[in-house]
Amino acid sequence: MKQGKLLYAGKAKSVFHTDNKDTLIVEFRDDITAFDGGKKDTLKNKGSYNAGVSAFFFEHLEKHGVKTHFLQMLDNRRMAVRRLEMIPLEVIVRNVAAGSIVRNYPFKEGTKLDPPVIVIDFKDDTRHDPMLNDDLIVALKLATPAELKAMKKAALGINRLLSALLAKQGILLVDFKIEFGRQGKTIRLGDEISMDSMRLWDKKTKESLDKDVYRFNKGDVMATYNRVAGRITNAAARPAGARKKPTSAKPKAKK
Ligand code: 5GP
Repeated sequence: MKQGKLLYAGKAKSVFHTDNKDTLIVEFRDDITAFDGGKKDTLKNKGSYNAGVSAFFFEHLEKHGVKTHFLQMLDNRRMAVRRLEMIPLEVIVRNVAAGSIVRNYPFKEGTKLDPPVIVIDFKDDTRHDPMLNDDLIVALKLATPAELKAMKKAALGINRLLSALLAKQGILLVDFKIEFGRQGKTIRLGDEISMDSMRLWDKKTKESLDKDVYRFNKGDVMATYNRVAGRITNAAARPAGARKKPTSAKPKAKK
C-alpha cells in the first residue's frame, strides 16, 4: 500500500490518502494536547502506544461483531483504515462520574452510573465541543434518528466489551469517547480508542492510567502510557518500536 498526500492533520493524528480510494492511513503522532489544544507537548513514543492499544481494541471489537474502520497496522504508529465519512459527534459513555459530568452536574466523583450514561458532544473545538441532544443532532442534520439509534446501541455494546476486557487487567473503564463514520449506509467505529480518549482507573488504587495524568500533572505521562499499554495488551511493557512482533501487524484480508 502506498501512502499518498495528507488528507487531514488533527491534534494528535494525521490522515493520508493511499493508492486505494477506499483506504486511508492514520498516523498516530507523538503530540499530546488537552483543554482544546490549550496545553500541548510532544512525547517520544506516545503515538506508538496509542496506535498499539487502538489496534488491540479494534481487533477485539471486530472479533465480537462491532464494525470498525480498522484494517491492519502498517508499522508501530501507522494504521490502514477504511475511508469513512466522519460524523462530527463525540459519543461519550460514562460508567463512573468523573471529569466534565462532575464539574457541570451535582455528581460526586467516583459515583457508579448504572445504567451507563451516554453524552453526545458536537465535535467543534471553536465552540468547545458543546453537548447536544437528539433533537439538536437531527435539526443540525448531523445524523438521522436511525443513525443516532445505531450509534448509541453500538456505543453501549462497545462499553460492555471493553469494560469486561479491561476488568480482567484490573482496570476500571470510567468513561470513553468514540467517533463514528459512514461507509455507504453502514455506520462504523472510526478514529481511535486509546489512553487519550478514555478515562481508566486502577481498580484497587483508583490511580489514573490515562490522559488525566497529563491534563492535571499527576505524574510521568509516558511511564503511565507505557505501563497501561502493556497491561491492556498483556504484552511486555516496552516501546512498541522495540517489539519484535507488534500486535495486529499481520495483514488481514478484510473487506
Ligand atoms: P469529559 O467530558 O469528562 O472531559 O470527557 C469524557 C471522556 O471523553 C474522557 O475519557 C475524555 O478523555 C474523552 N473525551 C472528551 N472529549 C474529548 C476530546 O475532544 N478528545 C479526546 N481524545 N477525548 C475526549
